[in-house]
Amino acid sequence: MEAIVTIENLRKYFDIKKSIFSKPRKVKAINDISLNIPRGSIFSVVGESGSGKSTLGRLILKLIEPTSGKICFEGEDITDLGSKDLIKYRREMQIVQQDPYNSLHPRKLIKDIVGEGLKIHYKLPSDEIYVRIKEILERVGLREEHMFRYPHEFSGGQRQRIAMARALVLRPKFLVLDEPTSALDVSVQARTLALLKELKESLELTYLFITHNLAVVDYIATHVTVMYLGKIMELGSKDEIFSNQKHPYTMSLLEAIPSVGRGKRIRKIPRGEIPSPLDPPKGCLFHTRCVQAMDICSKEEPDEIEISKGHLCRCHLYS
Ligand code: SF4
Repeated sequence: MEAIVTIENLRKYFDIKKSIFSKPRKVKAINDISLNIPRGSIFSVVGESGSGKSTLGRLILKLIEPTSGKICFEGEDITDLGSKDLIKYRREMQIVQQDPYNSLHPRKLIKDIVGEGLKIHYKLPSDEIYVRIKEILERVGLREEHMFRYPHEFSGGQRQRIAMARALVLRPKFLVLDEPTSALDVSVQARTLALLKELKESLELTYLFITHNLAVVDYIATHVTVMYLGKIMELGSKDEIFSNQKHPYTMSLLEAIPSVGRGKRIRKIPRGEIPSPLDPPKGCLFHTRCVQAMDICSKEEPDEIEISKGHLCRCHLYS
């Protein structure tokens, strides 16, 4: 499948100070990541808090600058484009954030929130802008009269639909969805996910779907990337990762959600908390929590190994 987004050896390091008197230290939020996102896929990025998954989404959208590496959108290298040259890509690559309560301006009418991007990117007459806003609100299950209300008049699920309408009104090709349902009630989550699936098909979109919830991944994803402390641990098609997972970390994530794991059930959930990105372990990043760790694991970092076509895993068990 043709890639809509390609990233090569992407890195993002932040300088962090523990206190105003201490020297800055580097946090490797994204540490040498390469991947292709196939057009038309729902490419899910999974990991615990601190794994770097949201940073990855923001880098691809060029909301933050990489430390090094390359980002291509539809074959064009956009890594070094300035804000003027990025305008076209900003229309085609949009984001829906996690929190539908804080992501909408509380004192703006819905028509102004949803229409803001249209006014920035297109010089359209106001009646055409009105029609485009009305159409996209209806696509996400809202009505014309909702244009004249404020965000506080809507439920969490409706607000997330408004955020989706704001992203989709520009007719993008690629959407980053950053934990789009995690702030919603379970019943609303299911309806929102079904809507996202339907919109992806009918509007021919590609999603980068960031989540910590593997039950959601099982429902919606076509591809899965498992991240840990800024690196990819395992990557493959959803079916391959769910039925033939290889990495002990992936196994532990699946094991923690009995309803979704379909692979081997021989591992235990990881020990302890994810280490601080300020002080990552030497060798395999996962060795401090891995129930299968061997001597080599604390000394040498494993390379990425191709288990089968399109299925990559970073673990000494397969070297
Ligand atoms: Fe576990 Fe070693 Fe594999 Fe890391 S390399 S996941 S510590 S077995």
